[in-house]
Amino acid sequence: GGCRYQGIPYEEQVEIKEKEVRKLLKKRCSVHPISGMYFPYYYRNKVHAVFGMTDKRKPCYGIYEEGSHKIIQVEQCQIEDKKSSEIIKTIWDMLRPYKIKTYDEDSGYGFLRHVLVRRGFSTNQIMVVLVTASPVFPSGKLFVKELVEKHPEITTIVQSMNDKKTTFVLGDKEKVLYGKGFIEDKLMGYTFRISPKSFYQVNPKQTEVLYKKAIEVAGFTGGETVLDAYCGIGTIGMAVSRHVKQVIGVELNEAAVKDAISNARRNKVENIQFYCKDAGIFMEELAEQNVHVDVVMMDPPRSGSTEQFIDSVSRMKPEKVVYISCNPETLARDLDYFTKKGYRAEGAWPVDMFCFTGHVETVCRLTRIK
Ligand code: SAH
Repeated sequence: GGCRYQGIPYEEQVEIKEKEVRKLLKKRCSVHPISGMYFPYYYRNKVHAVFGMTDKRKPCYGIYEEGSHKIIQVEQCQIEDKKSSEIIKTIWDMLRPYKIKTYDEDSGYGFLRHVLVRRGFSTNQIMVVLVTASPVFPSGKLFVKELVEKHPEITTIVQSMNDKKTTFVLGDKEKVLYGKGFIEDKLMGYTFRISPKSFYQVNPKQTEVLYKKAIEVAGFTGGETVLDAYCGIGTIGMAVSRHVKQVIGVELNEAAVKDAISNARRNKVENIQFYCKDAGIFMEELAEQNVHVDVVMMDPPRSGSTEQFIDSVSRMKPEKVVYISCNPETLARDLDYFTKKGYRAEGAWPVDMFCFTGHVETVCRLTRIK
């Protein structure tokens, strides 16, 4: 699976990650020591299991082997929430009595494709998403009833229909089988609603370390207009809102934007607005309309940002950009483009959000060259 650093002592893992960031960024800015985790286990609040067939055509569940669709049978993993793993195991045990077949990717035959469990660590709400190949769920009601009896801690169950040959886990159609259809979690003192399709950081403890660092390096004074680009369900923007005058959030995923708007309302944050758009196109429109922004906070996916986005930032001339990156390679590429466009990288702060995997998160501060 993704645990490349299995077998390496944790202290060494963080050293390796810090070195990697240093190697990639040292010519561009100073790199500060990495913030690691005190207890780097069972931190993942989202557990995903594939349900399918072994090479020998036997039903199984587990994780994909890295870079392939071969399923490695895993019952429990030391970075994943224990309760969530237990629930997945219970679902597996219930398949036989309910005569539910796991999905065969080759033939397209079978019903259950994936199970996703998300847990709000600070609210203890648990969401189970059953990804199925067809909408008809034989004995679905009984199945759900028994599952909730076995795990009363489950607060909602959603069925997601995915009949396509695709690498995406979730399908387009969803049906709430039990509860509200979303869970909530608390982060930075705010409560967030999280829907099945919305992105939510998988390590909430380190997310607070990351966001605090991002807010610290932004050095807000209170009067700023801030753009939260690639904002997801609005977590960074909301955390920032109490330090500034106004926040504008932009995000492409419709479910996430809906969550973001509802989150602002529920937390009574009135100085924030969200837009559902491609971040690059949105920035271009803001630049076109001469909208003034003082600080851009950006948190793009692993592929990084785009020249269109950075070009527009440079036209809008915010004093500072805080770039939060989950991929130091695309960060390095984007920093070079920012440099061409009148910005200077001043410092990078790596944070270990994904212990035992090869991934590393980095906060980087850029300022406009006068
Ligand atoms: N800042 C949020 C989410 C970061 S993950 C948090 O900390 O939780 C990156 C987000 O970028 C995802 O929510 C994804 O849906 C969104 N995204 C991906 N491509 C995008 C694009 N072109 N324009 C706007 N948002 C995009």
